[in-house]
Amino acid sequence: MVRPKNAIVRVYSFGNGATDGSAAMKNLLGSKGANLAEMSNLGIPVPPGFTITTETCLEYNQLGKDKVVSLLMAEVKLAIATVEKRMGTTFGSDENPCLLSVRSGSRISMPGMMDTILNLGMNDNSVEGLIAKTGNPRFAWDTYRRFVQMFAGVVLNVGATSKEDQNPFEEIIERYKKNKGVDLDVELDAVDLKQMVFDFKAVCEVQTGAPFPENPWDQLWASITAVFDSWMNPRAIYYRGMHQIPEEWGTAVNVQAMVFGNMGGTSGSGVAFTRDASTGENIFNGEYLINAQGEDVVSGVRTPQQITLTGSKKWATLAGVSEENRKIKYPSLEELLPNTFKELNTTQALLERHYNDMQDLEFTIQEGKFWMLQTRNGKRTAAAMVKIAVELLSAGLIDEKRALLMQEPSKIEELLHPVFDNEAIKVAEVLAKGLPASPGAATGQIVFFADEAHKYSDTILVRIETSPEDLEGMNIAKGILTARGGMTSHAAVVARGMGKCCVSGAEKINISYKNRTITIGSQILNEGDWISLNGTTGEVYKGKIKNKEAELSADFDTIMNLADKYRTMRVRANAETPRECQNALKFGAEGIGLCRTEHMFFEGERLIRIREMILSTDEIGRREALNKLLPIHKNDLKDVLRAMKNLPVTIRLLDPPLHEFIPHDIINQKEMALEMHVSLETIIQKVESLKEFNPMLGHRGCRLGITYPEITEMQARAIIEAALELKTEGITTYPEIMIPLIGTVKELKLQKQLVKNIIEKVFAEKANSVQYLVGTMIEIPRACLIANEIAKEADFFSFGTNDLTQMGFGYSRDDAGKFLPIYIEKGILKSDPFQVLDQEGIGQLIEMATIKGRSYDPTLKIGICGEHGGDPSSVEFCHQIGMDYVSCSPFRIPIARLAAAQAALKQRLPNQVENLYSCIEKEISAPI
Ligand code: ADP
Ligand code: MG
Ligand code: MG
Repeated sequence: MVRPKNAIVRVYSFGNGATDGSAAMKNLLGSKGANLAEMSNLGIPVPPGFTITTETCLEYNQLGKDKVVSLLMAEVKLAIATVEKRMGTTFGSDENPCLLSVRSGSRISMPGMMDTILNLGMNDNSVEGLIAKTGNPRFAWDTYRRFVQMFAGVVLNVGATSKEDQNPFEEIIERYKKNKGVDLDVELDAVDLKQMVFDFKAVCEVQTGAPFPENPWDQLWASITAVFDSWMNPRAIYYRGMHQIPEEWGTAVNVQAMVFGNMGGTSGSGVAFTRDASTGENIFNGEYLINAQGEDVVSGVRTPQQITLTGSKKWATLAGVSEENRKIKYPSLEELLPNTFKELNTTQALLERHYNDMQDLEFTIQEGKFWMLQTRNGKRTAAAMVKIAVELLSAGLIDEKRALLMQEPSKIEELLHPVFDNEAIKVAEVLAKGLPASPGAATGQIVFFADEAHKYSDTILVRIETSPEDLEGMNIAKGILTARGGMTSHAAVVARGMGKCCVSGAEKINISYKNRTITIGSQILNEGDWISLNGTTGEVYKGKIKNKEAELSADFDTIMNLADKYRTMRVRANAETPRECQNALKFGAEGIGLCRTEHMFFEGERLIRIREMILSTDEIGRREALNKLLPIHKNDLKDVLRAMKNLPVTIRLLDPPLHEFIPHDIINQKEMALEMHVSLETIIQKVESLKEFNPMLGHRGCRLGITYPEITEMQARAIIEAALELKTEGITTYPEIMIPLIGTVKELKLQKQLVKNIIEKVFAEKANSVQYLVGTMIEIPRACLIANEIAKEADFFSFGTNDLTQMGFGYSRDDAGKFLPIYIEKGILKSDPFQVLDQEGIGQLIEMATIKGRSYDPTLKIGICGEHGGDPSSVEFCHQIGMDYVSCSPFRIPIARLAAAQAALKQRLPNQVENLYSCIEKEISAPI
């Protein structure tokens, strides 16, 4: 196209001749437009068309409809003329109409945007012209019928008038099929379709109060502006908020000449993948429909057929269709239109080689002629993601960095947990949906109480919410379902740590502990009934569903080894049992970043001793109880230190408020009274005296150790005796003692002195010594502000970002569920700050504390141990500010390793990586 110099270009032509754009112009042309241009540059048949830039979308939002239409007018007219020339048709002509599709397309494919409009330009005159030209009235009326339906739905917003109503167009189609006694829309003839067009238009007129627009230019501008409008519709805004997509990206508009898959037996439409999107196998596959247009294939109006012969045979076996029948009724495209198939096959190979990634293709065949309508990097499962990258790498098609950058770190977790059988899940009944709190698949019989978790061999623990007392039961159960609580609720955090499947906050389920029932709508489930949980999607299913252990593939190892090669940050685990340590090591942990000692106190005799200490009225009594706890605590610590030999283990001193160790319901209180040989009143009184208005801001963390130094002393002794005993067994350990919840230097100083005194004493008693560190958790905003002073007393810093977020925002983690979802919906927050580190605010505190800490000691060891340690964007942030390590739950370690590697690559090769990264289409999932 010849353009005046220096003018802003808003329209780029592509297809069937000279093309203005290319794949590199994704930001300006959107992904769909850039790839259409790229394909036509490659000589692949693409119907001619043009892309209106994403920048025009921004102008549209600033300048308004009229202004932008006038700015676009000349360029669009010129581009339409080009399309007309290339197609040999005329837009707006009655005899030889040029029909168009109008499609949205931003940088990444985004649900919430406007649906595609096909066959634009149809009206009462052009339909006659199309009949005369093709001699195919059925085709012409089908094309017109589809256009009215799409334009009405998408541009005119004609649809169901209430939630309970059916879509009026679907209703009309159903009626026609019923009257005629047929099942499929292809069985309707020209007469039916013609009548249907009039019925459709009548619905439009009733609903909009205006006649259906007949003028093709009016139709075109209304469609183009509708695409721009859709960028600002609430659905799209919501998605952008959820996935942190900037509004400034805008959407492009693609206008393209129609090619017709609905012209009869040698026409059709299909979707294909260059490799298997669920397994990653290098097998070309896909589905198609003969005599169909656009989205018929995915919308399920008819059962689509397989593209390849192999695929078709496999499908027939699964569907129980005989080979005879398959050949006649469900032939593959390979058999039916061998020449077209050959062309498609060549094209898919070319495109995959060109983009060096698995492609998801859309094509249409018009009377035997093959056209490509879209290509993009295909969505895939975690297994496929890994396998495809490794295979492309070993074929020498991509390098190691690209293979790593092709991974979506958070997806990796899918591979680590047991999974449901793909086929079994398809037929399962979904009962409810909650938050995907901890991935994996679990099937079991319902129990409502933690101490009944062993009642059946496989149980699902169903609770309104869980508490630390449920820990053991949670460990025994196969999965956990809660009616309340978010992604950082107790159940969620603990389950993730255990690698146990958990669905939390399934609001629709009503639990009656009394009747031992779950009520969901009109359904009632009883204790002992089978249910299944998918912790990856949050779905709750009725009955038993077959599942299988995850097997880590050799490809997985290859990717993880690559990650280790490129990352510079270390990855540790949050763990407190030998089993968790084993898991952590299996997944590549290089130490423990957080061993929460209180988690070691909830079981058996430990709990009795802790309770004994709590019930004591004086120091002597407390010390007595603690002395009994000491050997047990030491052994538990030994187990952990032994499992992690030669690696650092950060052990946090007791952190939670003491009331967490005492039951709050009368039944358990009675039980405790019996067990402890005290009166029920004593227990109740103790509960009363431990009551706090804001326990999270109350008597916890180092405040416990300051008021009850004997607790700190016992723990320090247990840790160091454990290390010494292991030393005599020939095992080297690196204990790092961590003082929690420091807000002043003096707190740390006092606790550290206490710890050191005890340790010196133990060294003297045993005439032996070991290496150890004493550091602190940075989790109170004030600690960040005085980090340079704290650094003088600390051997290391570990950011406790859960509390830091809680206190920095002033959001109680346990109550935030009431308003956080609304905050996110309204765009006040981009995401849950307890899951994704708030880099803008809390991140500043962390960065400041890091700089201040290192201003005193440039080599100060710094890490993070909050939930954020396993979140990819947070890991990247930690890398950028120079942390030494991140620590996360064992099952998130591979995620953190990958995210750390990607962070290092992005920092080292910012420009190259930006390019690499931009070719990876980020996957966006459907709304919950
Ligand atoms: P999505 O983003 O949902 O994939 P598209 O914009 O790709 O939506 O359009 C959906 C379908 O519409 C395409 O797969 C294709 O089959 C059909 N389509 C779009 N443009 C044309 C065209 N110019 N000719 C024929 N079919 C088209
Ligand atoms: Mg779409
Ligand atoms: Mg598409």
